[in-house]
Amino acid sequence: MDCLFCAIAAGSIPADKVYEDELCCVFRDIDPKAPVHLLAIPREHIAGASAVDEKSAPLAGHLMAAVAKAAKNEGLTSYRVVSNCGPDAGQTVNHLHYHILGGRELSWPPG
Ligand code: AMP
Ligand code: ZN
Repeated sequence: MDCLFCAIAAGSIPADKVYEDELCCVFRDIDPKAPVHLLAIPREHIAGASAVDEKSAPLAGHLMAAVAKAAKNEGLTSYRVVSNCGPDAGQTVNHLHYHILGGRELSWPPG
């Protein structure tokens, strides 16, 4: 399958990885929207947060634990975790990813 994040997880496309384990990895977004902008992805291809089901829920939970670890390692105390679902929400890569944004004040609600 031709998927950018599968290739990053496999190491065939380089990324600035800050956390890795057997199930997932976290790397820096190439076009950061905040001083710290990380992406957390499972190694397994899941089309997005809207495709998480009962079977993949444990993996999605594991990914949330990796999000918390990576944010802590970056020294973030306040940050936002977000997953864009569908084109109108801004999803451009169809492989489950959580954005971790921090290092500045974040407005709420988002645009
Ligand atoms: P989304 O638009 O919510 O699907 O998020 C996809 C994110 O992937 C965007 O924030 C992009 O900047 C980021 N991105 C695209 N290509 C790369 C890459 N090669 N390495 C790191 N981040 C990337
Ligand atoms: Zn993929």
